[in-house]
Amino acid sequence: MFDKILIANRGEIALRVLRACKEMGIKTVAVHSQVDRDLKHVRLADETVCIGPNPSTKSYLNIPAIIAAMEVTDAEAVHPGYGFLSENADFAEQVRNSGFTFIGPDAETIRMMGDKVSAIKAMKVAGVPTVPGSDGPLPSNDRDKCLEIGRRVGYPVIIKAAAGGGGRGMRVVHTEASLMSSIHITQTEAKAAFGDDTVYMEKFLQNPRHVEIQVMSDGQGSAIHLGDRDCSLQRRHQKVLEEAPAPGIPDDIRAETAQACVNACIKIGYRGAGTFEFLYEDGNFYFIEMNTRIQVEHPVSEMVTGVDLIKEQIRVCSGEKLSYKQEDIVIRGHSFECRINAEDPRTFMPSPGTIKNFHAPGGLGVRVDSHLYSGYTVPPNYDSMIAKIITHGETREVALDRMRQALDETVIEGIRTNIPLQQDLVRDSEFRKGGVNIHYLEKKLSL
Ligand code: ADP
Repeated sequence: MFDKILIANRGEIALRVLRACKEMGIKTVAVHSQVDRDLKHVRLADETVCIGPNPSTKSYLNIPAIIAAMEVTDAEAVHPGYGFLSENADFAEQVRNSGFTFIGPDAETIRMMGDKVSAIKAMKVAGVPTVPGSDGPLPSNDRDKCLEIGRRVGYPVIIKAAAGGGGRGMRVVHTEASLMSSIHITQTEAKAAFGDDTVYMEKFLQNPRHVEIQVMSDGQGSAIHLGDRDCSLQRRHQKVLEEAPAPGIPDDIRAETAQACVNACIKIGYRGAGTFEFLYEDGNFYFIEMNTRIQVEHPVSEMVTGVDLIKEQIRVCSGEKLSYKQEDIVIRGHSFECRINAEDPRTFMPSPGTIKNFHAPGGLGVRVDSHLYSGYTVPPNYDSMIAKIITHGETREVALDRMRQALDETVIEGIRTNIPLQQDLVRDSEFRKGGVNIHYLEKKLSL
């Protein structure tokens, strides 16, 4: 096992990783930008290194500064959290070339999954169900071929950038007449945003849900899944509220898809925590992408399985074998997570500032993952998420009532937050029934 881990992230996930390390008896190094010197995990870490000024390009995305911090502090491994460098294959490669361990899969695996065309191809070969589509890059210079693919897939279709991410680089096409112009516009945008103009086509699903499957794999022939999560409540492709398990999925389809993900992990020699993201419509799962890192919403899976995903991720990336077998994983009860953002609940504009007062909710089945404390100043430089409130209950209804109470108890003064939106959502009668699709939240907000 590692003796010392450097945490290359900030905010709640850095604190979450620090807690796991401390419990495991592993020493911690916190790296931070200038404005982040008062972050909670920085105060709790064994060692701290300021890696640069506030813009993330100069600090949390600064690969040489992070590797230098590892050298100076003698850290053996780096935990990248989510966002920032967590899915950067070059970073994983440079960490490895410098003689350190990247807590995640190999650079080659990250690279393959970062290119959606190659990811989809690999998944299809491994038996994971995918969205009907072009099965490879679109030959944008060959108009007839593109039109033929469009007819075969059937309209509406969606043109997506192979290198796309964060909900960018996608365009829905409803008729053949606008296919070629849409392909060219998406290519231009993809080239500008991602430096790669490869695009592909998928059938556009009209009213899907977003359902994802959590996996853990040791890269030594063993992999397990830890059930699924429903993350359909989204605004501008950003998840707002998540739950586990996804409600109303037939047991056989659920089990079959999860098994396909496990098989794929074994087949590609995957190491670490990962998420297979699917669109789910009319009883069918369609793979859209794999995230090769721990995700924001991992706690809901922890609550229903009792497995500490960060600890297990650290263990398998240190070279240990998986400490669980599939039969050890039993889904118990239901869990929700509300993302609390420092933003105006109506305009969604960021609301940085100093927290005058913070009271976290509590009680049986309530968990708060947050770096907030009274007197802490939320800087304007980074993502606006400041807390995650997570609840667990024997049933979906109990967990949801518990979330309603937890939100009502939470006090965050000095800045604006999206708590009013979350309070509204947990009381929403359609959402309470379960199974709303990915358009539900935006439709509700536009009313
Ligand atoms: P990103 O990596 O940018 O997040 P994804 O491929 O995961 O891109 O897609 C992001 C979102 O776009 C999905 O959650 C879904 O809302 C929508 N989307 C993507 N592909 C399709 C599709 N084939 N049909 C309908 N919606 C889609």
